[in-house]
Amino acid sequence: AKSPSMFHFRRRGKEMVDLIADYLENIEQRTVYPDVEPGYLRSLIPEEAPEDPDTYEDVVKDIERVIMPGVTHWHSPYFYAYFPTANSFPAMLADMLSGAIGCIGFSWAASPACTELETVMMDWLGKMLKLPEDFIAGTHGQGGGVIQGTASEATLVALLAARCRAVRMILASDPQRPETGITSKLVAYSSDQAHCSVERAGMIAGVRMKKIPTDQSDKYAVQGETLRRMIQEDKAAGLIPFYFCATLGTTPSCAFDHITELGPICNAEKIWMHIDAAYAGSSFICPEFRPLLNGIEFADSFNFNAHKWLLVNFDYEFTLFAPLTLTHLSPSASPCLPLPHPVSPSTSQHWQIPLGRRFRSLKMWFVFRMYGLKGLQDYIRKHVELAKEFESLVRADQRFEISADVVLGLVCFRLKGSNEVNETLLKRINNGRKIHLVPCLLSGQFVLRFALCARTTESRHIREAWRLITQLAEEVMQELPH
Ligand code: PLP
Repeated sequence: AKSPSMFHFRRRGKEMVDLIADYLENIEQRTVYPDVEPGYLRSLIPEEAPEDPDTYEDVVKDIERVIMPGVTHWHSPYFYAYFPTANSFPAMLADMLSGAIGCIGFSWAASPACTELETVMMDWLGKMLKLPEDFIAGTHGQGGGVIQGTASEATLVALLAARCRAVRMILASDPQRPETGITSKLVAYSSDQAHCSVERAGMIAGVRMKKIPTDQSDKYAVQGETLRRMIQEDKAAGLIPFYFCATLGTTPSCAFDHITELGPICNAEKIWMHIDAAYAGSSFICPEFRPLLNGIEFADSFNFNAHKWLLVNFDYEFTLFAPLTLTHLSPSASPCLPLPHPVSPSTSQHWQIPLGRRFRSLKMWFVFRMYGLKGLQDYIRKHVELAKEFESLVRADQRFEISADVVLGLVCFRLKGSNEVNETLLKRINNGRKIHLVPCLLSGQFVLRFALCARTTESRHIREAWRLITQLAEEVMQELPH
């Protein structure tokens, strides 16, 4: 006999799918950016959880009353802020199944399918990206990948592994040296354009993190000569350079560090090179963008967010490690793993901070199979084409300028004139709530970022966004000196 709760679930589950479909189908009609003040929500719901259960109808009614007024609609075709976050029907369906299976895959035995599908999916992905065989578990069974929650976690894990490797290497040649004497001398590097999570990783790991200066004339890319000079100066001062985080596709302007030049420097100095390609990484599945990843063969580890631009809903961060790195986060004795692994195709539990892990690879399996490589490539290319279309609209208007090369789906632009004029323009755009953008600072200039985000954005949305921007620019330029 069916239990009442299962009956309830079947009915409400189907209704929920309809609610989601209606939300996504009509998202364009909603104001993309909410009109609420901080603290808006507390007064709309009770101070405490209900003693007796509420009905499902009561909860659903409150979605429009309590939740939707405070939602920034990231999947609206008028959302152009930050970088995209992925959303697709196959991924949402797989997420439901993952939630239902609800296993915690911390070891092979804890759920073999969870461990094995993830290992194989990471290999599928590695092959889509044409990564060196070293990164693919199914070839030598040595390097490989793991799904993390976010790019910030991936960068931190790589940094911790690099710190561990550096200490072990020094102790191997100088066993009497106190470990604290080594860690206090370690120095890591990243670009001044790197995401703030890289600096935070240094703080969490308790190591110095130096920012390498970049400038506009070098397209905001770290130059080999600058890295080499900083390493030599730091070594001369008695420090131990051990980690460099390169960025492919920086957050402000989507700049690319020259890893073909930086990689050999890191390799010669035994510095761990990690590559953070949080946004741009997905584009490397297209042959025309794959050259941006040339130099990966020098890297020790590499991460990107499939939940940004590869149609796999949050949270889904790929981290791939070259084989050398394999054991660096493995505890020597493993008291937290009570079950022996009869077969261990992946040591992924040693490549992340939490022990527990969800069955996230199901999302990848559904998405890769139901889109196919061609479907995913088409989706990336469409966003890049729309970015180029927006770029040409900006270039055709003499009042505006483009602030950085448009390589993928991000256009950095500004009104020719003061920061004040541009800040006012952005404020007007966001207060209008029809479209949503965020700024960045490039060489001291206030710049507007127009990022292609939603899966459903079309040319008509881009043209409408540009119409709104130019109309507000007209107003701002009449009011302010520029
Ligand atoms: N690295 C880069 C280059 C990014 O652009 C971002 C976010 O946009 C991050 C790291 C942080 O990503 P996450 O939220 O996955 O930690």
